[in-house]
Amino acid sequence: MIPFEDLPVEVVYPYAILLGLFGASFINVVIYRLPRGMSLVRPGSRCAACGTPVRFYDNIPVVSYLLLRGRARCCRARISPRYLAVELIGGLLAWAILQKLVLRLPSDTSIGRVLAIFTAELAFALALVAVAFIDLEHMYVPDAISVGGTVFGIATVSLRPEIDLKDALLGAAVGFGIVWLPFGVLYKVIRGRTGMGLGDAKLLMMAGAWFGWTGAVFALLAGAVQGTVAAVILLLVHGRIEEPAGVMAEKRETETALAQLSPEERAAAEAELAKDPLYEASSSSSLGLARIAFGPFLVLAMLEYLLIGRDWVTPSYRNQLHRDSIPSSFIARGDHPAQTSRGGRLDRRRMVMAGQELGVGTGRLGGAAWRRLLRRLGNAAAR
Ligand SMILES: [Zn+2]
Repeated sequence: MIPFEDLPVEVVYPYAILLGLFGASFINVVIYRLPRGMSLVRPGSRCAACGTPVRFYDNIPVVSYLLLRGRARCCRARISPRYLAVELIGGLLAWAILQKLVLRLPSDTSIGRVLAIFTAELAFALALVAVAFIDLEHMYVPDAISVGGTVFGIATVSLRPEIDLKDALLGAAVGFGIVWLPFGVLYKVIRGRTGMGLGDAKLLMMAGAWFGWTGAVFALLAGAVQGTVAAVILLLVHGRIEEPAGVMAEKRETETALAQLSPEERAAAEAELAKDPLYEASSSSSLGLARIAFGPFLVLAMLEYLLIGRDWVTPSYRNQLHRDSIPSSFIARGDHPAQTSRGGRLDRRRMVMAGQELGVGTGRLGGAAWRRLLRRLGNAAAR
């Protein structure tokens, strides 16, 4: 078993960030194709405007968009800046997961396990990005991601030692229940109809499967607070909340289809449509019923929990992470990292984190601060 601290950072960082960029490039495909019921793998990338296949060198994350100045090579059609935004978010998330989660794993963790943890966390984060953008445009959360993500979360529970299988199953049940019980069951009992789609319930089920019940509750509360703040700001700035373009297009299509039906068929179809929360509230324009996609805010809260929240909501996670963040060999000898046998820069990175843990400086340590930290650690070891 090779411990991952032997890997040079010159390899670790580019590898992680490239994986994030190319992963996000695929997420762009998911965001476009999944709601349209298209295959995710076939055909290969095509220009959304004229259908010409996109060459591989025009499909390099971030770089191609900038070189082509946001226009397709084939027909000069504008490429949505969303593609660039998603790719940048992917790179950033990969970097943050590496920095916040992976480099703080115990130093004797094997490379295989580190790779599995990084890949799973990145896939989870990127799937959430897809949910946010799909919900923003179409106002629904695809089951393929929320239910699929729940199954994936339960299957990979051994990669998150702070919870076990029981916690994951309980978390999934709590996550689904905290939305379904009040909105699905109670609202239906009181008002005779559902007040909210179950997409958000399934998304919180995914949160529970990944983090346990604390994560699902955190996502609901933090998501609700941030969603409310955003809705208030939107109302203050815009005066109203508009429905996303994807939803308006879908409604126009529905209107056209309804117009072609006979009166009886039309009545039946309208009764069926009334069960869909998307059509239910659309007639009312009052402030209280203003609709805003909740998925992106749940996603935001889940990413916050992934990268920051677990540290302070779940104390056992913090302990597990920091169990080995100061190499014991270093403290015992109290010598300079350059003289230790390993000498790798991951060791130095871990020392910087140890420094932050002791409250010495933040971020990169300059020469003087670094020497101060070494002295302090030396003194601590001597005592
Ligand atoms: Zn084109």
